[in-house]
Amino acid sequence: MIETTPFETRLWLSSPTMHGDEQQYVKKAFDTNWVSTVGENLEQLEEAVCRQVGCRYAVALASGTAALHLAVKLAGIKPKDKVFCSDLTFAATVNPVMYEKGEPVFIDSEYDTWNMDPKALKQAFLQYPDTKAVIVANLYGTPAKLTKIRELCDQHHAILIEDAAESLGAVYCGRQTGTYGTYNIISFNGNKIVTCSSGGMLLTNEEEAAGRVRKWSTQSRENAPWYQHEETGYNYRMSNIVAGIGRGQMQHLKEHIERKEEIYFRYKKGLEGLPITMNPYPQETAKPNFWLSCMLIDSSAMCRQVRSDTEALYVKESGKSCPTEILETLAKYNAEGRPIWKPMHLQPTYHHNLFITAKKEYKNIMKKDICLGIQKNNSDKISDVSSDLFARGLCLPSDIKMTKQQQETVIQIVRGCFEK
Ligand SMILES: *Cc1c(COP(=O)(O)O)cnc(C)c1O
Repeated sequence: MIETTPFETRLWLSSPTMHGDEQQYVKKAFDTNWVSTVGENLEQLEEAVCRQVGCRYAVALASGTAALHLAVKLAGIKPKDKVFCSDLTFAATVNPVMYEKGEPVFIDSEYDTWNMDPKALKQAFLQYPDTKAVIVANLYGTPAKLTKIRELCDQHHAILIEDAAESLGAVYCGRQTGTYGTYNIISFNGNKIVTCSSGGMLLTNEEEAAGRVRKWSTQSRENAPWYQHEETGYNYRMSNIVAGIGRGQMQHLKEHIERKEEIYFRYKKGLEGLPITMNPYPQETAKPNFWLSCMLIDSSAMCRQVRSDTEALYVKESGKSCPTEILETLAKYNAEGRPIWKPMHLQPTYHHNLFITAKKEYKNIMKKDICLGIQKNNSDKISDVSSDLFARGLCLPSDIKMTKQQQETVIQIVRGCFEK
């Protein structure tokens, strides 16, 4: 145990950071009675995002999930249509496919970026060449290999939807994430790099698509003197109050990314010498927004750990550790970490869905065993990539309000787990 007392106020994984500008835009909306789903804040926020990302159209919506839902509708997904989806992601990437009664097919991750493996995607297209759409997420702010993924989609006439919810401001091959898909989404949820308290956006260069999303999101009203409807509508538009918060936050995006980057490199340096690596990114092509700093424990330094659907146990071993030990220890000191997002193909709700990996060894193991957590975490040979990342990885406190001193303490807590 290291000699330190718990943090007086909780250290968060990633919580909202307000600056004051936000309130001024909200106040103006109040003072002028523009508190509904139209107004200057909405227009200005959409414009600010277009400028930041470099897209033609942005439609502000109630959430990133709502944006994904409408993106899935734009892609024309009908009942039973397969959609290739990132396996290692937050469930919101995938759930909108279910809203349209489509069939998510999960694509394994790669070690280079932790995102969708282009090799596995290629294999998926060989097996199911008629697949109409792909949804790729940029996990923890690190871009996927978007050029390659886009190329595969184009070859197979599939529509790419980019889930840039976690990666606003990240760059891949000189272009912002959120521009590689035909339809793209970002999120302004409270934990994201900038927030509106909640909210999201659909981004596209297609004028017609942007128009359809605007219409769908405001109950699909036709141009008529009465409520006239030719399509099912949704109440998905963002409010002008919420947009005011985002308008203020966008002015601090660059600063938030800089702070997140400092946090990432402070961990990287502070944890040097331990049998761990940080969440990787290809330095020649990618500039992440460093939304969350994560670490992956070397297979050889993993103590035994088992997880059921809701609980985890581990056996302490000298010089070794595991995500469960580190997370429990951080919690004791009043700091919030989190396991790597649990892969979709391991989720009970998606048990019956297809999962495609490029790892050859996978063919010899039974999916059932993986789902029960019976696979040996210590051997990456017998596990698919995303299960392996889930077994060995964790997200560290990455809140930009964390002081250098506090982060040093977190580093010492993590180091302590590998001692003895
Ligand atoms: C947060 C998140 C979403 C959903 O965004 P909301 O605004 O919370 O609906 C979608 N995908 C990923 C990868 C996310 O992290």
